[in-house]
Amino acid sequence: MKSTTRRQPARTAARFIGSVILAASVTAGAALIAFAVSPVDIRHVDPEAAVMSISSAQPTMQIPGPPGNPDRRDRRNPATAAGEADGVIPDGATVTVFDDEVPAVANLDPDLLAALRRAATDAADDGVIFYVNSGWRSPEYQEELLREAITTYGSAEEAAKWVASSDTSAHVSGDAVDIGRSEATAWLSEHGAGYGLCQIYENEPWHYELRPDAIQNGCPPMYADPTHDPRMQG
Ligand SMILES: [Zn+2]
Repeated sequence: MKSTTRRQPARTAARFIGSVILAASVTAGAALIAFAVSPVDIRHVDPEAAVMSISSAQPTMQIPGPPGNPDRRDRRNPATAAGEADGVIPDGATVTVFDDEVPAVANLDPDLLAALRRAATDAADDGVIFYVNSGWRSPEYQEELLREAITTYGSAEEAAKWVASSDTSAHVSGDAVDIGRSEATAWLSEHGAGYGLCQIYENEPWHYELRPDAIQNGCPPMYADPTHDPRMQG
């Protein structure tokens, strides 16, 4: 009897711990489902924060893309949605600056791509990989993102702070890349200027363009957001 009495609290404790683990699993599952059905459907919202929050909870988990991934085509009309040939990064794909077969990468400006690859090769020595969340985009894909941004932000004016039109976007001309994850953007913010790679907008730490003069002079001052960029007044 005594041994049974002594063991009882242990079993109760085990059941309690089991319940905690179960509850934690359910919570994590619910969080993942929430990401999957997130109504925020624009990559520029905040990919880094979301990736960081998941990877810190589960370091070994492969994250296909930020929750704001605009490429989740399950919510789209497949007849009108842009596809991989438009520069969409396929859902679940992990694309790096070396993936030549991906149009979003292959159609980038050759000088930008060469600079990215030089930087990525050196960053790899520090254990950092440059993932591409978005690169070149077709005008159709850009317009789709803009329409989604207007829905998300409620007005064209607010959406313009985050998504350019197809006439003005540096992504459409192949002159801009959105780099993931936080390790890579941190590496670039420290070393990017040496490769001519510059962050352009304060509100977009992932958006990089080529500024060859930066190798000599450092990167130019950033715009607060794209609406302050003279190129966007088009
Ligand atoms: Zn961008």
